[in-house]
Amino acid sequence: MAGSLSQYMAQEMKQIRLVGGGLAGLALGIALRRHGVPVVVHEALSYPRHRVCGEFISGVSEQTLASLGIAPFFAQVARPQEVSWCHAEREWARFRLPEAAYAVSRFHLDQVLCEELRALGGEVREKSRQVPQTEAGWVWSAGRRPTQGPWIGLKAHVRDVSLRAGLEMHLGTDGYVGLVEVEDGWVNVCGLFRSDSSIRAKDEPLLLPYLRREGLMNLTERLQQGTWREGSVSAVAGFRLGGQPPLANLISLGDAHSIIPPFTGNGMSMALEAAALAVEPLVDYAQGRCDWSQAQQTMAAAAQRKFGRRLGWALACQHLLLAPWFRRPLEILSQQQLLPFHTLFTLTRR
Ligand SMILES: Cc1cc2nc3c(=O)[nH]c(=O)nc-3n(C[C@H](O)[C@H](O)[C@H](O)COP(=O)(O)OP(=O)(O)OC[C@H]3O[C@@H](n4cnc5c(N)ncnc54)[C@H](O)[C@@H]3O)c2cc1C
Repeated sequence: MAGSLSQYMAQEMKQIRLVGGGLAGLALGIALRRHGVPVVVHEALSYPRHRVCGEFISGVSEQTLASLGIAPFFAQVARPQEVSWCHAEREWARFRLPEAAYAVSRFHLDQVLCEELRALGGEVREKSRQVPQTEAGWVWSAGRRPTQGPWIGLKAHVRDVSLRAGLEMHLGTDGYVGLVEVEDGWVNVCGLFRSDSSIRAKDEPLLLPYLRREGLMNLTERLQQGTWREGSVSAVAGFRLGGQPPLANLISLGDAHSIIPPFTGNGMSMALEAAALAVEPLVDYAQGRCDWSQAQQTMAAAAQRKFGRRLGWALACQHLLLAPWFRRPLEILSQQQLLPFHTLFTLTRR
């Protein structure tokens, strides 16, 4: 009886189509299925796959994970909290994050979320690349939008590398790189660098010449001695940080809506938080309690309230981190333990 009632309700509900089966799309799909909403996810690639990402999730609350119905998975994930903060290969500071982060590879995480969504009756269509639609019921969670931008993101998993702390962050001359252990002893090495077309890789991953350009010779050597995970070396270029141009008639979330500088480790949290924000307006739309433009307006206003301030702070901090004139004051402040890490943590995550 319960089954036939839920089948009847699902038939009555409008379908939601999510374009992009990354973190935002899969988490939202799971939450919508838990409310009985029919869901189709279109994913351009197939699972499992490596993505350019530091795989260090900082700022997401247990309440957000619970509201999306994905808390049990995160309860099994590593939770680093100590940070070693280095410049020119010297440790400038060591501190403890106010809240432990989560460390898990996207290779594993997205695969698990996809399986969970399918188990809940959601449809996930792999190798299904879409273009933006103007129809009601389409949500754009397809990540970074290709555009001209000064950055390149490079990532790899390397084993047999020992870390100084749960998260090792290195500031280079024109970028930064983080190292964190994800599952099975693999260390995620991921950096954001100012792109330079003259840098070429000869018989080695592009990450290594970029690390040398950053002056990180010891780190390069440490990594060269490690074991590199097949298929994990990835790169992304041509994107812009900050708010992304809106797409007409679509609800967009995650990186499709705005991209926070990666040093915060907050991009995946924002994708999950945005998914949590979208549940109520989309359930209301699916159940016919509001129309599509109302759902869109509710979501846009909620996202602005939730993310506007932290994006502004994070962009300003990244600007200072990479400004040559700020290096010396930054070094002194770090070494004297005068950097307000806790305040900055809050401002870039709430
Ligand atoms: C160098 C770098 C380091 C980072 N490090 C961290 C970190 O340590 N911690 C952190 O929290 N965040 C980090 N981020 C940011 C984080 O990766 C993103 O914020 C997060 O992945 C956003 O999730 P999403 O679901 O919006 O997009 P994505 O995870 O990018 O997922 C989008 C999905 O959409 C699919 N897709 C794309 N186009 C289409 C299409 N047309 N049709 C169908 N499917 C499509 C893609 O294949 C992909 O699976 C980093 C980013 C960079 C660039």
